[in-house]
Amino acid sequence: MAETKYPRCARCPTKACEKHGMKANDASSPLEKAPAFCPMKLMPEIIDVAMTEYDKPEVREFARLASVQEFQCYEPLPDGLRTRNTRIEELIQFSRKCGYKRLGIAHCGGLAGEAARLSDILEANGFQVVSVQCKAGAVPKERIGLKPEEKIAGAANWETMCNPIAQAMIINRAGVDLAVMLGLCIGHDTLFIKYCNVPLTVIAVKDRVTGHNPLAALYTSDTYYRRLKNKID
Ligand code: SF4
Repeated sequence: MAETKYPRCARCPTKACEKHGMKANDASSPLEKAPAFCPMKLMPEIIDVAMTEYDKPEVREFARLASVQEFQCYEPLPDGLRTRNTRIEELIQFSRKCGYKRLGIAHCGGLAGEAARLSDILEANGFQVVSVQCKAGAVPKERIGLKPEEKIAGAANWETMCNPIAQAMIINRAGVDLAVMLGLCIGHDTLFIKYCNVPLTVIAVKDRVTGHNPLAALYTSDTYYRRLKNKID
């Protein structure tokens, strides 16, 4: 694929789509400033198709509520905008906006304590909370072809496979309004997302080294995590 032929917003020097500081009625096109690899130039028809989705009343209302939630996370003060809501608070606020009553936590076994604490907080705020751990099913790892030497607990020991497909199917069956992923492993989360067929959000992703904050390694990639700039095995 030629270098300019695929979108690379992360490499954009202009961010012309943001139209920062412009008046709401300024109709000038950001395309003049946008680079050749801008998706607005490469795939304008896709953006048109996407916008027709917002004409569906339920999609438009969901998108509107999400943006109201975003707005409410900032507090205008004399010295500028200040942020004010943690993601857990946002989860509660947005769920209320959407009229959700029953939430379904899909969590890693390694974050069972966090799942219990999150359940406490959500229940104290009036939600019914379903939770399903990744090991549900109690199926041994050999079932999906793991070799004995690939088991974390050791070759001679039982090890239950992570079962994101069962997790998703149980969450689907439990009739939750919103699924909430909490610390699923990479790949297992991909499967959960593939099989989950209710609205889904993420409260945390798994990062065993950084306390489940993968961006910590990025923020320190000029210093302590400089090794990330080397080729990674
Ligand atoms: S959409 Fe276009 S202008 Fe906006 S960040 Fe991406 S490349 Fe830049």
